[in-house]
Amino acid sequence: MAAPSDYALPFRIEGQNVNGRVVKLNALASEVLSRHDYPEAVNRLLGEALVLAAMLGTMLKFDGRFILQLQGSGPISMLMADYTPQEGAGGLRGFAQFDADGLADASRENGDLTSLLGDKGHMAFTVDQGAEMERYQGIVPLEGANLADAALGYFDRSEQIGTAIKLAAAPLLLPGGRTEWRAGGIVVQQMAARGGIVDIETPPERDPDHIDDDWNRLAILLATAEPSELLDADVSGEQLAFRLFHEDGVRVFEPRGLQFACPCTRERVLNMLAGLSDQDQAEMQSQENVEVRCEFCNENYLFEPFEAFAQRH
Ligand SMILES: [Zn+2]
Repeated sequence: MAAPSDYALPFRIEGQNVNGRVVKLNALASEVLSRHDYPEAVNRLLGEALVLAAMLGTMLKFDGRFILQLQGSGPISMLMADYTPQEGAGGLRGFAQFDADGLADASRENGDLTSLLGDKGHMAFTVDQGAEMERYQGIVPLEGANLADAALGYFDRSEQIGTAIKLAAAPLLLPGGRTEWRAGGIVVQQMAARGGIVDIETPPERDPDHIDDDWNRLAILLATAEPSELLDADVSGEQLAFRLFHEDGVRVFEPRGLQFACPCTRERVLNMLAGLSDQDQAEMQSQENVEVRCEFCNENYLFEPFEAFAQRH
């Protein structure tokens, strides 16, 4: 079987109770981003967010949808990426809301997180296990120069699990002037004995000083991963994990394939409309057509007013 072009590759660093993932979005980054027509700064951040969602979504100990949401007061007001486990390849999708003029100004600056989302932004990780189950949500202030730093802030504050992450997304210029996007990333994370959203095992007793030294060394090794290695389709996840951590012994597992997936349907949109307030419904009924666009995949759903609200009247 040919290796999938879009995947999360789980690996473990032997003898150190450290788990990792390499995520490669070779075709999928373009597939998600080309559904929208976003400026480059938004594509970059959304590309990285897709990688982060795939990383953490495939590390969950629950079988649920993982939603990454950034909220801010800068040119980008909202950005979402989510991962849905499903038969075969897991599903990824995402979208952003932004002010194009403000973004043009912000892009002239350094393009860091604060210039894109303001200095009072938040990041939320949500695990949705379905209507019957409790939702897990963790929210932290959006801090750091980039999305990887912000995610580390989450693990420092909320879970106190040693984590190191590197993310990258960039446009690739092809002959003929076409552009394709690539996105990729790598994470290593200590397994800890306490709770949290990630896969947990109780580590055997080890000398704490030793653990810190070993961990610091792994984090330094991870930092040497080049954006080109994360983005180049010819460098496989396995090659990258071995390049970085071969001295410590790397064991790779079956890659989890990834694909674009948006579960929106006409019926789901109708259900959503039926749940709107009476005032909103009355307003929409007075219009000629009821038009609803799925922000994730940009699919447009068009209804006659009587059809849209038939369930209630
Ligand atoms: Zn959709």
